[in-house]
Amino acid sequence: MQTAESSFENLRKDFPILKRTVRDNKHLVYLDNASTTQKPNQVIDAITNYYQNHNANIHRAVYALAEEATQAYEETRDKIAKFVNIKDRQEIIFVRGTTEAINLVAYAWGRPHIKEGDIIVTTEYEHHSNIVPWQILTQEKHAKLEYIGMDDNGELILDDLDKLIATGKVKLVTFSLMSNVLGTITDAQKIIEKCKAAGIPTLVDGAQAVPHMKVDLEKLGCDFFAFSGHKMLGPTGIGVLWVRKPVLETMSPFHGGGDMIREVHKYETTWNDLPYKFEAGTPNIADVVGLGAAIDYLTKIGMDNIREHEVELTKYAIEKLSQVKGLHIYGTKDISKRGGVISFNFADVHPHDVAQIIDEEGIAVRSGHHCAQVLMERLNVAATSRASFYIYNTKEDIDVLVNSLNIVAKVFKL
Ligand SMILES: *Cc1c(COP(=O)(O)O)cnc(C)c1O
Repeated sequence: MQTAESSFENLRKDFPILKRTVRDNKHLVYLDNASTTQKPNQVIDAITNYYQNHNANIHRAVYALAEEATQAYEETRDKIAKFVNIKDRQEIIFVRGTTEAINLVAYAWGRPHIKEGDIIVTTEYEHHSNIVPWQILTQEKHAKLEYIGMDDNGELILDDLDKLIATGKVKLVTFSLMSNVLGTITDAQKIIEKCKAAGIPTLVDGAQAVPHMKVDLEKLGCDFFAFSGHKMLGPTGIGVLWVRKPVLETMSPFHGGGDMIREVHKYETTWNDLPYKFEAGTPNIADVVGLGAAIDYLTKIGMDNIREHEVELTKYAIEKLSQVKGLHIYGTKDISKRGGVISFNFADVHPHDVAQIIDEEGIAVRSGHHCAQVLMERLNVAATSRASFYIYNTKEDIDVLVNSLNIVAKVFKL
C-alpha cells in the first residue's frame, strides 16, 4: 500500500514544469505558491482541448460548437458549487480573480449602500486587494475605513472588532480566511457570528484558503466570498465571486455591455438574469474550462489530504528553519492555526539578497512586501522572504532551502 506522502510524490509527474532545470542546471524548487501555483497536464490539456475541439462564443448561437462551449463553461459553475458547497449556482459569478471580485463588490454593492459616516472594517494582515478598493470607496463616500489589529503572534485582536461594532456604524466587515504572508488561519466563524448578531454583512477573501483546505460556504455563513483560479492549479485570469442571493439582488451592475442585458433600447436597458447580469462581455471561456479541470484534480486528491500534506511540510519546515542561526520566522508556531506559508528574515540580510543567492540553487521564493504593506508596517519591516508550499512540494525541497540558507550565512559571514 502507498503511504499518503508517496502518493503526493507521485503527483509531481503531472507537472511538466517541475522537470526543468534553472540557472546552473539546478532542479527547480518552486516555493512561491502563495503567488501562483504550477499547472498539471490535466489543466493544460483541458484548455488545449477546448481550443482544438470546442471553441465558440457562448450563450448566443444554436450551432453544435456553441452548445458545447456553453456546456463546458456552465459545467465549471456546477463544479464550483459542489467544491465549496453552494446550493444555488446563480450566486456564482466568474471574474478575473480575487482582486476583480472585491472591486466588483466595492462598486456594485458598495456604491449604492455606503453613505457618509459609515464604517468599513478590514484587517491589518490583508492583501492590498482587500484594502485599496475600500479606500477608494470610503474616500468617495466620505465614509471611514477601520482595521482589526494583529497581535505579535500574527492573530487578529477581535476586541477591536467588538469596539467597532459598538459604534453602530459598521456596514461591512472584510477579512482573508488565510493570510498570504503569515499563513494565519482566521477565526472566521467567530467574526461572522459577531457580525451576524449585529446585522453586518461579511466579505471573505478566500484566495489562500480555497486551494489549501476544505471550504464550506454554507457552513461559513458569510455574504460575499472571493477566490482565484491560478492559486489552485488553474489558469491565470479566472476567479470566482460568490454572493448570497438576497444580497446579490440588491446590487447594481458592475460592467455594462453584452451578455448582462435582457433588452437594450435607446435610453434604457433591462438586466439579464443572475448570474449573467454580472458577467458582461465575452468571458474567459477557455480558462473557466481549465479551472474546472483544476477542481477535478484537487477533488480527486481530497482537500483534507492536501491540508494534511501541507501541515506535515510546514511542521518540518518550521523545525528545520528554527535551527538556522539568526533566522526569524513571523507568525504563530501553532500549526493548527496556520497554513503552508512561512515568512522570515535572516539576520540583517535584505530579503532580496537572500532570494538572489538561493535562486542560484534553483529555489524560487518571494522577497518583498507580498502586496501587504500595511502588515509590513505593523511588523516594522520593509520586506520579508516567503516560502509557500503546495501539493507537489516535498521535504527534500525544504532541505534544499535550508542548505541554501547556509550558503547565505557563509556569504554574509553570519
Ligand atoms: C493573491 C491574493 C489576492 C489577489 O488575488 P489575484 O488573483 O491577484 O486577484 C488577494 N488576497 C489574497 C489573500 C491573496 O493571496
